[in-house]
Amino acid sequence: SPSRSSVIIIGAGISGISAGKVLAENGIEDMLILEASDRIGGRIRKENFGGVAVELGAGWVAGVGGKEPNPVWELASQSGLRTCFSDYSNARYNIYDRSGKIFPSGVAADSYKKAVDSAIEKLRSLEANLDSEAIEQPCSPKTPIELAIDFILHDFEMAEVEPISTYVDFGEREFLVADDRGYEHLLYKMAEDFLFTSEGKILDNRLKLNKMQSYLAVAETCSITVRKVVRNMHLELILDCDWNDKMEVVRELQHSRNGVVVKTEDGCVYEANYVILSASIGVLQSDLISFRPPLPRWKTEAIEKCDVMIYTKIFLKFPSKFWPCGPGKEFFIYAHERRGYYTFWQHMENAYPGSNILVVTLTNGESKRVEAQSDDETLEEAMGVLRDMFGPDIPNATGILVPRWWNNRFQRGSYSNYPIISDNQVVHYIKAPVGRIFFTGEHTSERFSGYVHGGYLAGIDTSKSLLEEMRKQKERKSESQTFL
Ligand code: FAD
Repeated sequence: SPSRSSVIIIGAGISGISAGKVLAENGIEDMLILEASDRIGGRIRKENFGGVAVELGAGWVAGVGGKEPNPVWELASQSGLRTCFSDYSNARYNIYDRSGKIFPSGVAADSYKKAVDSAIEKLRSLEANLDSEAIEQPCSPKTPIELAIDFILHDFEMAEVEPISTYVDFGEREFLVADDRGYEHLLYKMAEDFLFTSEGKILDNRLKLNKMQSYLAVAETCSITVRKVVRNMHLELILDCDWNDKMEVVRELQHSRNGVVVKTEDGCVYEANYVILSASIGVLQSDLISFRPPLPRWKTEAIEKCDVMIYTKIFLKFPSKFWPCGPGKEFFIYAHERRGYYTFWQHMENAYPGSNILVVTLTNGESKRVEAQSDDETLEEAMGVLRDMFGPDIPNATGILVPRWWNNRFQRGSYSNYPIISDNQVVHYIKAPVGRIFFTGEHTSERFSGYVHGGYLAGIDTSKSLLEEMRKQKERKSESQTFL
């Protein structure tokens, strides 16, 4: 019969790792961490591209310089993570039209102010409980510049429109992570405190990663014969349930008053007294994990109510620079008649001078569209946009990197996006445990959902609630024994 752990943590992103650390610090050593992908970090993920480390997921420590210290900023400082300050406010003065002209700063500032005022007005009306459809929107964006600004204001969180707890509590400064070890270095640092590591690698068999996934991914790029061999190897490994690096994709949680039985994709079975589930809101909305008995309605309804934001950073490598650099030029905007069409750009010269890399950010519908097409098609579109802005003679990109957070079945999106006017009840239900299953992850953070620090604090919070539950359970047990 399967061995039984005190706690199984599903997912080794920042919330799973911070939860594990708190449990270990409180004497719960017999835990198991099951991770569906081949690495820790989840939505914190570094990739080497064009000679530097780029962050496909979280890139900034958001919320620095305020009245309270941001715990992730503290972790970054302690571990000497290299970062550089980002000043988004300059973006509005670098808005290009399709003929490559920059809008005069007066025009841009006016459009920006108009958009902020109208967003605030809309928010007030919503707060006053008016039906959003019924609100007259005299300023609804129509022209390319209005659409571009609308995209910046709403698809990126801008403190001008609504008070965002992250900025209110921790400050409005944001720092871009620019470190070869990646943002994920913070997670390795944390893991070192409670998992056995050597030479920067986690060797503790309480952490189970999905090594097979990376072999399969590599195999897909090889010849048919190699692919066949690897697939057969994979099948053999599936038959051997004791192999340490098997697929750890959790597919079923069977829970009762006595504990939780966890079943993985390959039919492995683990048992635990409790489970901490850190899978994203997108995964909870998908059918990846089934619950037996099913989750109660209050839970599933709350899960459905939370929107999933898709945020895609596309990296492009060039043989030389053709965009303006220097103060106030890091971010620039492309104004097109289609909202969100390659709108928001950043050069990476501040982070990595001489890297000749540009990043363009797409969201939601545009992200899905681009995920579904080939990278060559995306490259062509992006080059078309850059030629509009900088002329026909610019060099072609020599490389492109397109993350696919939406099609990743272990993510299904980038982060949770609670409706601006939503009662806290939704997040409260999403966070609430169901029997012995405890929920964590950025989407369970009341104040900081969507952020790295949200995930980090949620992990701590959930494991503290679990420790409290374990203490009560122990008390109940000893009380009943005394009674007997
Ligand atoms: P995750 O990191 O998703 O961890 C959950 C883990 O569970 C994953 O590793 C997943 O593989 C695993 N898992 C899922 N299903 C299963 C299963 N069935 N079995 C086993 N394992 C499973 N935040 C910021 O603060 N600043 C930013 O600049 C920023 N930018 C972002 C940009 C992008 C493109 C994205 C995607 C996110 C960004 N975020 C940013 C948000 C931030 O990355 C997340 O809030 C945070 O990393 C979430 O951590 P988590 O532990 O909640 O979830």
